[in-house]
Amino acid sequence: MLLNPLTLHLPETRLEAARLYKELEDSRVLAGGTFLLNSMKLLKTKGTRTARNILSLAKVDELKGLDFQDGTLTIRAMTRINELLSSPLPQGHVRVLHTVCRNISTNPIRNMATVGGNLTCRYTWTEMGSVMIALDAGMHFLGPDGKEDVIAAEDFFKNGARCEKLFTHVTIKTCPRSRSAYRRVKKTVHVDVPLLAVCVKTDLNGKQWYNTRVGINNGTAFAQRDRTLEEFLNKSRSSPQLGAEALEHLTGIIYDTRASEYKQHMFRVSLRSAIEEISMSS
Ligand SMILES: Cc1cc2nc3c(=O)[nH]c(=O)nc-3n(C[C@H](O)[C@H](O)[C@H](O)COP(=O)(O)OP(=O)(O)OC[C@H]3O[C@@H](n4cnc5c(N)ncnc54)[C@H](O)[C@@H]3O)c2cc1C
Repeated sequence: MLLNPLTLHLPETRLEAARLYKELEDSRVLAGGTFLLNSMKLLKTKGTRTARNILSLAKVDELKGLDFQDGTLTIRAMTRINELLSSPLPQGHVRVLHTVCRNISTNPIRNMATVGGNLTCRYTWTEMGSVMIALDAGMHFLGPDGKEDVIAAEDFFKNGARCEKLFTHVTIKTCPRSRSAYRRVKKTVHVDVPLLAVCVKTDLNGKQWYNTRVGINNGTAFAQRDRTLEEFLNKSRSSPQLGAEALEHLTGIIYDTRASEYKQHMFRVSLRSAIEEISMSS
């Protein structure tokens, strides 16, 4: 199906893209296109008008790829999910990103979809959010004046995942004492999008847990932290019982209290299993 008439903008630098992001009216960003192009076709079918200006990031090489320097992993917005999946750079506790990417849809989608698109598309169910919150990632945005803002992933999602400026990259600091584990449950056997996802990250001093962060994605609200659970885990030591004990310390409302019994049950199974994985590694 042909799209409605539009003007395609193809900047070649980050700054050019950031300026167009601010200046263009009636516009949408095109990253991997897996959501945008679908939604534009759907809107056209319904007779609804679609954006006149499309800002493609395809030619902005500065927004592509990832690197690891001085203990910090940088993932640029236009990095494809499969590129992240096949990269050897995520090591130690950030290797959890491989698990996340492996679970996202199919190869054709992973070859197109970008990390930036996953984080900024404003669908509450996409998976990178809870992970970036647990890993305490910083999200970087570039303004038309070349000024960069860094927003903690937690705050970004707390503020409704709004992008006032162009999203350029995400940074995650690594630490040899950190461990992490990720669990996700798919919606149905037929629809492999997540019903829920949890990511647990902690630092370990021997068996003692500290600096724990728990990212929760219940699919109906943007990803958030469970601070009650974190507080309990920060007072805990690894043990075979820790996963089960932790379930007595959840912030109920985060787990979508109106959800089905199955979903509530799977949240508990996922959290217990993630905590046990970390417990058993120490
Ligand atoms: C069939 C299917 C199955 C899927 N399954 C899963 C799954 O299991 N788990 C999961 O997590 N996701 C899943 N996804 C979502 C997939 O990861 C998204 O399609 C993807 O995250 C969107 O990325 P994109 O690069 O294609 O974005 P696009 O469609 O190109 O862009 C979407 C929007 O994101 C915003 N945007 C993108 N880049 C930037 C930027 N740099 N700065 C500011 N705004 C930006 C813009 O608003 C843009 O319009 C699935 C998608 C499909 C189509």
